[in-house]
Amino acid sequence: MSRATGTVVVVGSLNVDQVVTVERHPSPGETVVATSMTLLPGGKGANQAVAAARRGAATTMVGSVGRDGSAEVATSLLADSGVDVTHVRAVDLPTGLATVTVDRSGENTIVVVPGANGATGREALLASATVVASAAVVVLQGEIPADGIAAAAGLATGRVLLNLAPVVPVDPAVVLTADPLVVNEHEAALVLAQLDPGAVVPTDEPALVDALRALGVRSVVVTLGARGALVAEGSAEIVAVPSPRVTAVDSSGAGDAFVGALAAGLAAGDGLLDAARQAVRVGAFAVQGAGTQPSYPRLDDVLPSVD
Ligand code: ADP
Repeated sequence: MSRATGTVVVVGSLNVDQVVTVERHPSPGETVVATSMTLLPGGKGANQAVAAARRGAATTMVGSVGRDGSAEVATSLLADSGVDVTHVRAVDLPTGLATVTVDRSGENTIVVVPGANGATGREALLASATVVASAAVVVLQGEIPADGIAAAAGLATGRVLLNLAPVVPVDPAVVLTADPLVVNEHEAALVLAQLDPGAVVPTDEPALVDALRALGVRSVVVTLGARGALVAEGSAEIVAVPSPRVTAVDSSGAGDAFVGALAAGLAAGDGLLDAARQAVRVGAFAVQGAGTQPSYPRLDDVLPSVD
């Protein structure tokens, strides 16, 4: 099933998503009884690694988990999807946890405990320097310490795909190594404000992309949910890439599916636009299934097409 050429190395978070359903959310000080509880593997880094591997990329995950039972849940779909987990370190902190509480109307609250992800800093990256330097594509997000993100970007000799989500403060030089920077429309505005605190942040998306490029960002991909994505490479015109029309069941993790697929395409030698055309289809596939990692397509799955 392989179309691998270069490798994808994802440096990022691994979590357990604890999804609790309740009739209604408790008020402060109140206790309510849940109607169900599910433990699922999550974390943006792990999600993206699963998505890349399932698209046929030789993928390595660099990250940290605790020495606890949750570590097994957090890594359960990585190896199963073909991800090399030898650079996932066990540390003396609890495995990252996201507690998602969903009420009858679908409204949710989320509490994230970074735990072991806080150990994926500069020192951890130096211990995995060789594998990061050997990657065709290094994928980074905002769920590990900023010095880990900076160290990974500095070690990369291949392409850096920076998905700065959530938008955490990083050295502007790190953002300028991105090729591409991948963000949704809200994150694009926050990254612009971070790079240029005095900037008037435009509300229309192409103007946002141009403002980021004017500050030196080499290439930008803005994901737009059901509308697909905008792709801007170098000084070339911005291209709107539509997403296939599908019936969305659960859009959680769609952005991570997109990023993983984009990385897999780039590692296989596709250009940014071709890789994005495939990534929107992978994102659209993912929203048709429940959960994050379990909804990501494998190479032999038939992807929806843009009509
Ligand atoms: P994020 O979750 O990071 O905000 P998006 O919601 O933009 O990311 O989703 C990423 C990609 O997933 C989109 O570019 C698109 O291809 C696909 N996608 C998301 N929601 C839908 C939808 N309702 N219908 C079709 N495709 C979707």
